[in-house]
Amino acid sequence: MGRLRPPRRELEGLVAYDAKDVHADVYLHANENPLDLPGEVLDKLAKRLRDVGFNRYPDPLANGLRDLIAEANGLERGNVLIGNGGDELIFDLLLAWGGPGRTLLDLPPTFSMYAIDARVTGTQLVEIARDPRDFSVDEAAVLERAAGGDIDIVVVSNPNNPTGNLVPETFLIDLLKSTDALVLVDEAYFEFSRHTMRPHMDRHPNLVILRTFSKAFSLAGMRVGYLLGSADVVTELTKVRQPYSVDRMSQTVARMVFKERAVFEAGIRDIMRRRDVLLHGLSSLPGVTAFTSEANFVLFRVEHASAVWRDLLHGHGVLVRDFSRTPGLEDCLRVTVGTDEEIARFLAGMDEILASRAAAEHFGASARAKRHED
Ligand code: PMP
Repeated sequence: MGRLRPPRRELEGLVAYDAKDVHADVYLHANENPLDLPGEVLDKLAKRLRDVGFNRYPDPLANGLRDLIAEANGLERGNVLIGNGGDELIFDLLLAWGGPGRTLLDLPPTFSMYAIDARVTGTQLVEIARDPRDFSVDEAAVLERAAGGDIDIVVVSNPNNPTGNLVPETFLIDLLKSTDALVLVDEAYFEFSRHTMRPHMDRHPNLVILRTFSKAFSLAGMRVGYLLGSADVVTELTKVRQPYSVDRMSQTVARMVFKERAVFEAGIRDIMRRRDVLLHGLSSLPGVTAFTSEANFVLFRVEHASAVWRDLLHGHGVLVRDFSRTPGLEDCLRVTVGTDEEIARFLAGMDEILASRAAAEHFGASARAKRHED
């Protein structure tokens, strides 16, 4: 029999990210845009298909797309880096600023990839948990820790996935001033929160902003993200990144979508409006607490939740994300803002589950009372 030596020790006990690829009628588990690309963009794309040049390697740095994004943000090409989704850029940042002997400061509960990438790159993880009542950050504790001198990267998801809240801008400015660590402000949901740290970039060389085409721009299936940062940061990242990670097709589509981004504005506004419908619908259900969100999803808490809740909703054809086993998010689930019909279907499912639970409890209680009488 042949043998195989084990991989790096850091992988021991690490569980691969599971996107839970199950079928449902309504997908509200991954913060995607419920709508595919607008018809006019798809038509243009179909016409462009013959000119993509599938036989040629792509431009390694996607300079055409970099220039468009740089111009829109009042920056130079050298301040922009494109990645195979924001996920790849987070990994690149950990490769360049993390690694053995280096430390990431994380503020859980938050996007799980930060901690996973820290583990995979051998980066030490320091965590300062958010307040479990409203998911606010312990600002004094973070500022003190970041100023300690041994932190190499701080990451703040803003708005925070999966809790939906923003941190105060004053806190981020204080953080940038308090440390020379690279501060990654993850603005994956920027188009819904309308809040960005871009105006502070010029004064803070340690600020890096992450954005994505996956949410507002309906391109989760294409894998394109970008970061904005000082030219020095971008140069270092080009040393660790995979040269051809953003393929020709993705570059073509992302350029087209970015040029046409005004077309998406109405859809983004609709999502923001429906986010309120979803929030109010959830809040009016008995025993449900929904948290205000600045993104395209809503976190909510139900009494005695477990993975079973996710399965019960799946039974009603609706897929949501279960967080009930994540520390600080006990009894919590996250639902993406879908179309009006999808939200109605989700809320009807919740209503039915709650009603049948209440009935079960009622009958359970009367059965117990009856036994007692006997
Ligand atoms: N950051 C945050 C906070 C996210 O929620 C996501 C997507 N789940 C990403 C980054 C990465 O998105 P993508 O790789 O699709 O660009």
